[in-house]
Amino acid sequence: MYLKGVGPHRAEKLKKHFEIETVRDLLYNFPFRYVDRTKFYNINELMEGMDYIQLHGHITDFDAPEGEGKKRRIKAFFTDGTGYIQLVWFNGIKYVTENYKVGKELVIFGKPSFFNGQISIIHPEIEVISPNHAPRQQVMPRYHMSEKAGVLITQRNLTEWASNALEMLSGKIADPLPASLIQEYNFVSLERALQMMHIPKNAEEVAIARQRMKFEELFFLQLEILRYAESKKSEQGFYMPRVGALFNSFYSDHLPFTLTDAQKRVVKEVHADFISGKQMNRLVQGDVGSGKTLVAFLSCLIAIGNGFQACLMAPTEILAEQHFNTLSSFAHKLGINIQLLTGNVKGKQRKSIEEGTSNGEVNLLVGTHALIEPNVVFKNLGLCIIDEQHRFGVKQRAQLWKKNTLPPHVLVMTATPIPRTLAMTIYGDLDVSVIDELPPGRKPIQTFHYYYKDFSRVLEGIRSELQQGRQVYVVYPLIQENERVDLLDLERGHEELTQALPQYKVGKLHGKMKPAEKETIMQQFASGETHVLVATTVIEVGVNVPNASVMVIQHADRFGLAQLHQLRGRVGRGAEKSYCILLTNYELSEHTRRRMQIMVDTTDGFIIAEEDLKLRGPGDLEGTAQSGLPFNLKVANITKDADIMQQAREEASKIIHNHPTRTPQEIKTAYDHLLQLKNITVNYSHIS
Ligand code: ADP
Ligand code: MG
Repeated sequence: MYLKGVGPHRAEKLKKHFEIETVRDLLYNFPFRYVDRTKFYNINELMEGMDYIQLHGHITDFDAPEGEGKKRRIKAFFTDGTGYIQLVWFNGIKYVTENYKVGKELVIFGKPSFFNGQISIIHPEIEVISPNHAPRQQVMPRYHMSEKAGVLITQRNLTEWASNALEMLSGKIADPLPASLIQEYNFVSLERALQMMHIPKNAEEVAIARQRMKFEELFFLQLEILRYAESKKSEQGFYMPRVGALFNSFYSDHLPFTLTDAQKRVVKEVHADFISGKQMNRLVQGDVGSGKTLVAFLSCLIAIGNGFQACLMAPTEILAEQHFNTLSSFAHKLGINIQLLTGNVKGKQRKSIEEGTSNGEVNLLVGTHALIEPNVVFKNLGLCIIDEQHRFGVKQRAQLWKKNTLPPHVLVMTATPIPRTLAMTIYGDLDVSVIDELPPGRKPIQTFHYYYKDFSRVLEGIRSELQQGRQVYVVYPLIQENERVDLLDLERGHEELTQALPQYKVGKLHGKMKPAEKETIMQQFASGETHVLVATTVIEVGVNVPNASVMVIQHADRFGLAQLHQLRGRVGRGAEKSYCILLTNYELSEHTRRRMQIMVDTTDGFIIAEEDLKLRGPGDLEGTAQSGLPFNLKVANITKDADIMQQAREEASKIIHNHPTRTPQEIKTAYDHLLQLKNITVNYSHIS
């Protein structure tokens, strides 16, 4: 508020719409791109797919405002002499018409969009050219804007205020990175980097600044992860000396099949952790279908046999329910009290489960993230298993620590093999076990790539499998922005199949349905009452219907490799030969064609993960990974900046281990800064 140019009113807006409360926030509010202001385009040069561009011209005409209320908008025609484009605004109409009068010389910025041969720019940035106007900067920062902040806070304000702040703090900005490190890497100082971020002289300065800020970000991220991992190592954990009668009885009398060697090995590793006296933090990586559920259950039996409670947490309700159903039949044979707790369980039933959990009657609680809510109190939680973990990062896991006097043992199970740099960030604090063997007798899944024009052949294949008593999944992508269109697609697909397969029952499942409805539909498919299930990716993770032998993936080009692999893993779970059909249009990019080919060529999840990394643009893994990080990243990208991440990790490790090249003062400064960062972000650790 006291910063030159801001004042109370704008300060309020900054806080509300930009989450900027302090000068530090303002300086760390980095531009997300820069516009080269020396470059002007002509309208007749504009092409589809162009990013932000700058044009020089004037408005020839305003259309009368259209629409009512929120839908109200105004259009103008803009020309630079080489052609016309449309400018569109949805708010600030009065401001627009008063300030950008017809004929006035304007410079506009924006991202052109193309529709029906018409080019338009929505909410362009505009500068009125006046006689004394001269662009002050060649490289102009672009910040993320908030529409709600309206015209009160502009791009230029954000630069100006950052610049004022830097002037005010000149010579006073302490660098959190060790000076010796800065020297070694030839980085610019923090103060200089901030200047270059907000008021760069040229593109090169931006690159220099971004490199340093990325490093800083990843350095503190890694410092936190390593510090956390280190503190975990010495963390006392529950001592579970016995394998126990439960385990032994299950193992000798009820085991539905012989364990694979890999399953046995992982159970042994878990057991070794249980008798170590330290808290277990272990990740089990095992391809889809490798039998992780059984490993989880056996681990629970050891914990329960030692007088502790255990919980098993799944990322979706469907999956939690399915685990519950699978494990219930085992549990009942052993006299274990197993309960299910999801958002679905309400009222009396919920109350009774919560009571049973807090008084210790419940031995094994299965559920969704509802389990980590504060109102779920355990009498003596000793083990928590998190299945299909990629949706649970460090931050979410840490919630568990509050559940008992000592933190419970944690076993994380994932079927998504992930690239190494990501692994050391999301799972940086975990020991790793691998189930690298599938149960015997699995027939490999055969994968085919078909074009839509050959759909009739796919349909023949589906019929033939159905005739043999098998079941079929048909999966549609569901991308958020396009949800309505995608749902229509799914509805249509459902209808078509219902007509094409009159003697079979075709079910339909998507994320918009109520949980109870989803469950019914899933149950109907699991019990064989419906033969075909048309669904969105809600079935992606973990669902187990062994009689299903065909997975048809619609618009397969819209899925990443990891996701395709997950989806394919839904079949091939019984002894029958299974098929995965990837459907796409004929027109495909090289990249996509390659992806389809990899799927056709291999079913090995680890190979797929490697190929994925080679091919990947920003994937959805990235988003989920980000959400699990202790800090939000502003400039660095955990998939794209793998090299910097590696360096940052090595450097952070030097701090943790008091490396002689770093002075005690430098080490202290780094830790102090980390503490400060943790105070302004979520303090997720009970050790600090
Ligand atoms: P995932 O690792 O993908 O979670 P699941 O635990 O769901 O795999 O197991 C997949 C299927 O394999 C299940 O039907 C399960 O009963 C079966 N299975 C697990 N372990 C074995 C085994 N050792 N031998 C035979 N089948 C097994
Ligand atoms: Mg599973």
